[in-house]
Amino acid sequence: MPEAGTGRADKAAVVARRQMVTAAHPLATQAGIEMLRAGGNAVDAAVAVQMVLGLVEPQSSGIGGGAFLLHWDGREVSAWDGRETAPAADDEKLFIGADGKPMPLMAAIVGGRSVGVPGAVRMLEAVHRRHGRLPWVRLFEPAIRAASDGFAVSARLHALLERDPALREDKQARGFYYRADGSALPVGHVLRNRALAEILQRIAAQGSDALHAGPVAADLVARVRSHPGNPGRMSNADVAGYAAVQRMPICTSWKSIYRICGMPPPSSGHLAMMQILGTLEQLPPVARPLNGGIPGAEWLHVYAEAARLAFADRAVYVADPSFVQAPAGRWDSLLDARYLKSRAAPIGERSIGIAPAGRPGGEPIAFAPQPNQPESGTSHVSVVDAEGHAVALTTSIEAAFGARLMADGGTGLPGGYLLNNQLTDFSFEPADAQGRPIANRVQPGKRPRSSMTPTLVFDARDGRLLMVAGSPLGPVIPHLVAKTLVGVFDWGLDVQEAVALPNFANFNGPTVLETGGFPAATAAALRARGHVVVEAELPSGLQVILRSVHGWIGAADPRREGTVQGD
Ligand code: GLU
Repeated sequence: MPEAGTGRADKAAVVARRQMVTAAHPLATQAGIEMLRAGGNAVDAAVAVQMVLGLVEPQSSGIGGGAFLLHWDGREVSAWDGRETAPAADDEKLFIGADGKPMPLMAAIVGGRSVGVPGAVRMLEAVHRRHGRLPWVRLFEPAIRAASDGFAVSARLHALLERDPALREDKQARGFYYRADGSALPVGHVLRNRALAEILQRIAAQGSDALHAGPVAADLVARVRSHPGNPGRMSNADVAGYAAVQRMPICTSWKSIYRICGMPPPSSGHLAMMQILGTLEQLPPVARPLNGGIPGAEWLHVYAEAARLAFADRAVYVADPSFVQAPAGRWDSLLDARYLKSRAAPIGERSIGIAPAGRPGGEPIAFAPQPNQPESGTSHVSVVDAEGHAVALTTSIEAAFGARLMADGGTGLPGGYLLNNQLTDFSFEPADAQGRPIANRVQPGKRPRSSMTPTLVFDARDGRLLMVAGSPLGPVIPHLVAKTLVGVFDWGLDVQEAVALPNFANFNGPTVLETGGFPAATAAALRARGHVVVEAELPSGLQVILRSVHGWIGAADPRREGTVQGD
């Protein structure tokens, strides 16, 4: 049940010399470039973009959600974790129903139970304190302006509102996004969000405490706890006590030419992507893909096999590092070339089917694999500023429209912000049938495992920044960024072509191909090798900036409403 696709619009790459922003909505991109033109840097731009995204792309991210950010300051990469946390009163049975079984997904999502303590604003504030240039209050001007004056409902927002099964049940959201007859506000309707304008004004003036304490926090807690059918256990202390975490990024060498930096756990994105790419490096190279770079069955087979192995490890090992130990004591044991060589050994002509987890460092496996669960509802922002510093920010409220709860911050005004359902990124099952614990089970204060893969690519020889990339789409994300890296750096496609390539994925089960993206013969050839092949929409939202001889080239995914602007 990913955030659905709403059509495709071909886009041209944008070229600029000095600075560039790409984000999922034109007004958000505009806010970022406004900050850069006002003398702001990449961090300033990213904060302004996020505040506008929460208004105009409320289905994907906002102040009620969480985010991961990578920053390049010209000397080093820093990694910032604004992932939601589980309330202190939650336990591993959070999503086990009265019948002792895992709750159905939508029953778990809708309401207060799935809402994690939001972290995006605290994280952005921490990064801004360290690296920002413009005053914090200035970063909120575009969002407050658009919230007060109104913005036009986009085709994508309209379509997602129209088909959403649950958002109308929330009184605040129903009164704001729908007409009296229950139909979604039409495309082009100018929507003012007065509650959000007021809340943003307070965050601009007082900082994140305006969200994490006082009336806005009290309203958040009340909405979570008082949901009639599915309340949560969030407390004022949980919200007040939230702290963003600065982590060591994981930077991984690829093909000896590139240094690829990403988030460590609790995100699984970088590890999964680099396990796939690292496993492919251990295998004989497969013939160049077909016309326009669209990969053929032989390449897709090998890719899918590498992905199975990576997702088998992800299911067993990756979770919040404050709660679980990395295998062999370090996360990059999963990326060790010798380990990946041993993992690649069984890859042959026929599919290996469901892959087992490996044993990096030779240590015994302490955890049971987590069964696959759907995830969706996210946005990615890439920025390069005039000094060549950069931000890759992936930000999420989990499912489209999150927990389907809208909070007005206690203002009594129409509108507000949507609460995340990020806790459903935990394993619903705490253990397997033998009682072995699952690493990513719910525990108080823990951060759910993520798939978000904000990525910075450097030239390993001279250290220059080459690419800023990322996307939404849950567990498909590492595949989307991998596709872009391979398309650009291996196959020599231009960045817009690479982004537009049909999507493909494997999560250690069926091989998933984007509907209509590949010739029928490709699926047939994969089936002949033993793959179960399914087609799915896979509406990615890649936002990529690539260094070129002309400066920077930016690409926004044709499957969503993103844009690129640069100077
Ligand atoms: N909640 C997911 C995660 O953190 C992301 C969902 C999406 O990208 O649509 O990995």
